[in-house]
Amino acid sequence: MKKLFLSGLIFLCCMFTTSCSQEPVDGTRFLFNTICTLTVYSEENPDESAEEIIEGAFDLCEEYENMFSRTIEGSDIDRINNSNGQPVEVSPDTADIIGEAVRYGEISGGAFDITTAPLSILWDFEGDAPSVPPAGEIEELLKTVDYTKIRVEGSTVTLEPPAKAIDLGAIAKGYITDRLVEYLTDNGVTSAIISLGGNIYAIGTSDGRPFRIGVQDPAGEGGAILGYVEISNKSVVTSGDYQRFFVQDGKVYHHILDPETGYPTDNGLASVTIISDRSTDGDALSTSCFVLGLEDGMELVNGIDGVEAIFVDHDGNMYFSDGFGTGMEFVQA
Ligand code: ADP
Ligand code: MG
Repeated sequence: MKKLFLSGLIFLCCMFTTSCSQEPVDGTRFLFNTICTLTVYSEENPDESAEEIIEGAFDLCEEYENMFSRTIEGSDIDRINNSNGQPVEVSPDTADIIGEAVRYGEISGGAFDITTAPLSILWDFEGDAPSVPPAGEIEELLKTVDYTKIRVEGSTVTLEPPAKAIDLGAIAKGYITDRLVEYLTDNGVTSAIISLGGNIYAIGTSDGRPFRIGVQDPAGEGGAILGYVEISNKSVVTSGDYQRFFVQDGKVYHHILDPETGYPTDNGLASVTIISDRSTDGDALSTSCFVLGLEDGMELVNGIDGVEAIFVDHDGNMYFSDGFGTGMEFVQA
């Protein structure tokens, strides 16, 4: 009763004032090994409060984590990784995301490869005391990296040897973000920001204007930004070498691996930010471009309609895809 009364009031307020804004409602959870925040600025579902919708969205995140996580026993990915080449029946979403990941393997010429999992496990970037693994072990596991050994038929996934394991870390947050956009808009949310560990999507507008999303300075401290882009109903995703890494003998070893060498990519790039309609594309492409490097990565992005990119190198230089200046703007901080 109270809820109905409140939303009635909000409706009236929207009718009579042009710049009506509800108090934003937000929620934060630690999921996918990172901090996830949902902020709802306006919603028009008379049956559910923004708090309830956010709660439902996080429940959905948990369902996805239980399907996609490599480290949760019994998840679809865990079962595939323990299948010894046998077909595994998975959820339609798991089959779908693996299909997308294989497609990005093809699009990126193998720079994006979810079968790098055994190498990520060996490097153990998230462990307590990671160190550079012996070259021989890297060499050995490189033989298992081959996304073409993944077969998806309906909701059956087969991981054929020598491929050994898959990890969706480079695409899952984007894929789940797209599902959250569907969930939130289906529940009447008209203005919101989804942030899954910096994997961002802006639904609608903020008081009638696009949302401003900052692009982090890879060399900066405390979340300093280089500038921002203005977006509405789009995703902004960044891959960088400053997010998860360790330092050994003065050298930085970060968590994005070159599937050709088995070592962290070392091509002078500090970050790649992708702006796209679907966050699945943004997530997969930011990792792909980070591995491909400036030249090949930029060529890839410029060949895809509706996708823009900002590359930042270790000298602080910024490089923009062709769409900047013709529709997309970057505003320097
Ligand atoms: P973030 O950790 O910020 O989501 P990415 O989206 O770039 O960053 O994903 C990096 C993760 O993807 C790594 O932690 C690892 O699990 C996996 N990964 C590492 N290298 C590759 C690669 N070349 N292709 C696909 N996945 C990768
Ligand atoms: Mg990614």
